[in-house]
Amino acid sequence: MKTIDDYNFEDKKALIRVDFNVPLDKKFNVTDTSRIEAAKPSILKVLEDGGSAVLMSHLGRPKGKANPDMSLSHICETVSEIIGVQVKFAEDCVGKTADEAVEALQSGEVLLLENLRFHAEEESGDEGFAEALSRHGDIYVNDAFGTAHRAHASTTIVAQFFPGNKCFGYLLAKEIKAIQKVMQTGEKPVTAILGGAKVSSKITIIENILDKVDNLIIGGGMTYTFVKAKGGSVGDSICEDDKMDLALDILKQAEAKGVKVHLPVDVLAADDFDNDAKTQFVDVDAIPEGWQGLDAGPKTLENFGQVILNSKTILWNGPVGVFEMETFAEGTIAIGNYIDEATQKGAFSLVGGGDSVAAVKQFGFEDKVSYVSTGGGAMLESLEGKTLPGIAAILD
Ligand code: AMP
Repeated sequence: MKTIDDYNFEDKKALIRVDFNVPLDKKFNVTDTSRIEAAKPSILKVLEDGGSAVLMSHLGRPKGKANPDMSLSHICETVSEIIGVQVKFAEDCVGKTADEAVEALQSGEVLLLENLRFHAEEESGDEGFAEALSRHGDIYVNDAFGTAHRAHASTTIVAQFFPGNKCFGYLLAKEIKAIQKVMQTGEKPVTAILGGAKVSSKITIIENILDKVDNLIIGGGMTYTFVKAKGGSVGDSICEDDKMDLALDILKQAEAKGVKVHLPVDVLAADDFDNDAKTQFVDVDAIPEGWQGLDAGPKTLENFGQVILNSKTILWNGPVGVFEMETFAEGTIAIGNYIDEATQKGAFSLVGGGDSVAAVKQFGFEDKVSYVSTGGGAMLESLEGKTLPGIAAILD
């Protein structure tokens, strides 16, 4: 696996695909700079070698048309402050404007190209557009995990124009290593905690990880499809009746593979999907009509905690309750605390995919787990066992 450390960028131009798809407020201020900070080490490495960096990214969903609201010019100052170098800006990512700006770039300088998605050819993966981008650099560096599952021009297609001169940036390399550490080389016992709303959105992940884990903890809204399939009463809890056979099949597969499945035994049930609803703890398979399970109960958390504390490798995807409402956030916070404790005892813990990152950030667990993935969809697809096109294009 070639990383940015395998190259010396002296007098070279690095064409770096970064993920600067950052949130902006109404005045176009960047409200969360973490993606820019995450790209900083790769950019600095190029500059410290004596090279220059041409940065390309998308921002928002302009759908192939120039849209001033989604111009990357809004973030240029913020990027300059974070990198510590005055970043230049090119008002287009291809064509004369871009070519001339790249041509004029000196060692030690950084150029940010305008939003790639102002051209429909970016998302369609157009080869001609990718070739035009490829002229902006001597070495291609992909450091954008968030878009690595897309076969877009700048994330995948462009790599073919850099035979022998392409690599992963630090951020992407870290993501790949973290996933490998869980899915391939994880120290046993390996435990996956899967929560979230629906079985249907997690089914491919579950099937893939059954070959890799010792324990599978199932929580959140997914619980009730399993419980009902086993004959329990789930009241008004979220349940996918058409996935009950699938749930039973998963349990059978897990048993055959020697994977221990841990389901909730009790839940916090509410008489409404509302933070101020009436609540009570009930057994997971005896939820009264008119009530719905919205968080894990104390016995469940105790059980889950024991499993987590005995694990050496932990993957967490999806909250175990409706954490967006304070009343139903306790379970998700408790899981975070157990993972924190296990991590302090030496376990490797990876959090990623979909809403888990939001939960982790909201409750301040970011620095307490070993690694928080920066890619929602890309992480989910990795956990499903798919080879991401952006990663394959570098390994090619
Ligand atoms: P996902 O994106 O699949 O990880 O799902 C995350 C969503 O699942 C969050 O918005 C949670 O509010 C929701 N969720 C978790 N537990 C439950 C539950 N018991 N009932 C309904 N929704 C839930």
